[in-house]
Amino acid sequence: MTASKIQDAQPIDTLIVGAGFAGMYMLHKLRELGIGAQVVEAGSGVGGTWYWNRYPGARVDIQSLEYSFGFDAALEAEWHWSERYAPQPELLRYADHVADRFDLKRDIQFNTRITSAHWDNTEGRWLVGSEADEFWACRYLILATGCLSVPTDVTFPGIETFPRPIYRTSRWPREGVDFSGQRVGIIGTGSSAIQSIPIIAEQAVHLTVFQRTPNYSMPAHNGSIPDEDIHARASDPRGYRAASKDTPGGFQNFGNTALATQTSPDEIRAELERRWAWGGFRILGAFADTAIAPAANRIVHDFIAEKIREQVADPAVAELLTPKDHPFGTKRPCVDTGYYATFNRPNVELIDLKSDPLVAFNAGGITTAKRQHDFDAIVLATGFDAMTGAIDRIDLRGVGGRKIKDHWAEGPRTYLGLMVAGFPNMFTITGPGSPSVLTNMINSIEQHVEWIAECLASLAKRQHASIEASAEAETAWCRHVMEAVTPTMMPQANSWYMGANVPGKPRMFMPYAGGLHTYTEICRQVAAKGYEGFVIRNGDSVLSESHDFTSHPPMPDIPEALMPIIIERLMAAGLMPAA
Ligand code: NAP
Repeated sequence: MTASKIQDAQPIDTLIVGAGFAGMYMLHKLRELGIGAQVVEAGSGVGGTWYWNRYPGARVDIQSLEYSFGFDAALEAEWHWSERYAPQPELLRYADHVADRFDLKRDIQFNTRITSAHWDNTEGRWLVGSEADEFWACRYLILATGCLSVPTDVTFPGIETFPRPIYRTSRWPREGVDFSGQRVGIIGTGSSAIQSIPIIAEQAVHLTVFQRTPNYSMPAHNGSIPDEDIHARASDPRGYRAASKDTPGGFQNFGNTALATQTSPDEIRAELERRWAWGGFRILGAFADTAIAPAANRIVHDFIAEKIREQVADPAVAELLTPKDHPFGTKRPCVDTGYYATFNRPNVELIDLKSDPLVAFNAGGITTAKRQHDFDAIVLATGFDAMTGAIDRIDLRGVGGRKIKDHWAEGPRTYLGLMVAGFPNMFTITGPGSPSVLTNMINSIEQHVEWIAECLASLAKRQHASIEASAEAETAWCRHVMEAVTPTMMPQANSWYMGANVPGKPRMFMPYAGGLHTYTEICRQVAAKGYEGFVIRNGDSVLSESHDFTSHPPMPDIPEALMPIIIERLMAAGLMPAA
């Protein structure tokens, strides 16, 4: 960065990058505390995920009563969701409503993409630059850049030769797309595809779905919000929120403590049917051993495979749509409306890329090993460079010019998913190492924003000191993130949680799998112990210093019967000494 740019930099206490739900709430919270803050946002409006992902059928997959802000009782009382799972346009209206209600837009600069952020150790500030060469000098930098905001760079041979439109689900045209009368091809069968396929199939004259790996999908049973939920929230709004946050996933899923491996077939069937009928993610909580014991996982797999066969008329197609390469829940499951039944339509065709690989795009469409497929439009629902993509695309340099890309060369390292050693005064909201994508994002966002705000208020009391994660605490936290996931089968899948969907990305389970409730308590204890694991300085003087992270949670309530398998896995991973 040149001296003139540094001179011209706009001074601000706190720069927040991103105006999704995280950036908006962070701004609101800092204003309440009287801490100066400005948001910069690449898009032209607020809403983050819900601003960009406008593809047909896009909707939230956690019930809207819980996937909405709980920090303000009046906001909560005045907003009425139209459906259990709000569609994207309604979520975007909600984001706009929140921004207007709290008068946030006057401190949000839109159409501004941050491309660099360098720590200036002499002045104790971040110098942050945009694509348009605008600069800010800020004491604190908060990255509210989203976990699933940067699409992967997937491309295909000959893609440039296809002369008609190619749409990405995550960069959908604002004016929408009408596929009426068109032959459409879609690549991918993750959540975005599973939501859009039924809608595109209704419009298109013919839809070809190119599937490489099938996913598990549960019915949303979307519709009006169940009376029991309306009543539960109306009668005790604070209690409803607290119950939602005091869970592993940040939403009420009524996890069963029984083990599938110790339950009779009739009771298993009844429990799974009940949860399937309720819909969404509820089946994830059917039994306490599903994520750990292969036999228990197989029971749920078999149940879902049966449900797929019930919905898909052609047994060969049903078989292709049934996941085989990963245990249930080890990749993020999908929630759909009519996905499987869409394959019964005469205008929908499934191409299995495992047995009929994609060779190239061409002027007509796509050639697979077996034949040519002609299209008027192609949709790429090919996913995101998750969790790290938005951060490591910024030229981000900490103390001594160390680049985040180098610090994260073997996978993202953070302390609590909140800070990175050697990158003082830089916070990530729902960053790698926090529960984030394994939870209801809004509840995780609220927890992070409130923790960061409290931390900044405490630093302000000490004349705006700087805070930094210690290298030791970061290492201990990374180890704990591994300890939390290793007992489960999650590392077995080639998931985006593992970075496996991006060629060359280090394989490492990125989110914290210990649960939002456990994590919240750890963060609370860390702060209560005077910011354990952090070094707080004012200029050259160290105000408080702790290099350890000892606020490990007690082992969560794990049924005794699962302990041998857990211990075996921890020992095999070198996370527990051999007996
Ligand atoms: P995704 O789950 O990563 O799915 C990407 C799909 O594209 C996969 O089927 C993948 O196949 C396929 N693909 C990628 N590269 C390919 C290639 N070169 N050739 C053929 N197929 C290829 O992405 P997503 O559907 O956008 O969802 C990502 C996450 O966003 C979700 O897991 C969820 O957390 C979130 N999301 C949430 C909602 C919601 O809340 N309602 C909706 C959409 C997304 P392979 O599996 O074989 O790699």
